Amino acid sequence: MTKAPEDAEARRAVAPVICYPNETLPRPDMALYAAAREGARKVGEVLAEPRDAAAFRVEAGQFFRITSVGGPQVGDLNLWNAHDLSERFYSGKTRALHGTHLSTGERMWSCFPYLRPMATITGDTLDWYGIDGFGGSVHDVIGTRCDPYTGNLLSNVQYHHCCHSNLTRALADATGLSLQEAEPHVHDVLNVFMCTGFTRDTGQYFMKASPVRPGDYLEFMAEIDLLGALSACPGGDCSAEHTSDAAVCHPLLIEIFAPEEDALEGWSSPPVNGYDRSHGR
Ligand SMILES: [Zn+2]
Repeated sequence: MTKAPEDAEARRAVAPVICYPNETLPRPDMALYAAAREGARKVGEVLAEPRDAAAFRVEAGQFFRITSVGGPQVGDLNLWNAHDLSERFYSGKTRALHGTHLSTGERMWSCFPYLRPMATITGDTLDWYGIDGFGGSVHDVIGTRCDPYTGNLLSNVQYHHCCHSNLTRALADATGLSLQEAEPHVHDVLNVFMCTGFTRDTGQYFMKASPVRPGDYLEFMAEIDLLGALSACPGGDCSAEHTSDAAVCHPLLIEIFAPEEDALEGWSSPPVNGYDRSHGR
């Protein structure tokens, strides 16, 4: 262990600054979205079965809602541009812009070179939770997704119903790609309903029983045409373990709502990022 310098305490006492002050981010017109949602009618639904995933398509300007049904359950959400799988959700940059956990008014941003809002959260019945005494909160963008490779690394198991595999199968079925072609498009997720944080003493990623109860939902407006996939995690409410069939699991309901014609008058899909991509040459 390196000996601390004499001014160690002074260095530690330096106040932090926010990496990405987000006051200049384009603001969603939440009043317009709420008015559009008011008159929207349901146009589709799909159920993500326990330890499995379901894919769904949402047109730009439509809403999609993920609802807990049956019992406490965590969901792992992937989003792609419906017309171009190379544009997908970027969990790391979303975290840098909005923080570790998302709620109403915050957005799921796409990867480079697109970096634009893919979806805006328009409703969250767990917004009351805040940050608990352990530093835990709900709907994180700090975890990745449970996967069979880490399970194999840590426990030498072959388990096939981790969110990574569930999302891979769902994407393959939705697009006609083979499992091998689909797998590289699966990416780090928004952990819907999952309650997570980092321990203060060791900085380790922790999870705890989700506060979600049947009827709770997280709702989004699609900013662009989307292909989504949601896995009902084999961890169930993530109170104990995942990468196994040990946890009690429940399905998750995905519903799509279409607003009335002209309800989003004046709104249009955000353009892709304006950086010219010349990279200094
Ligand atoms: Zn999972």
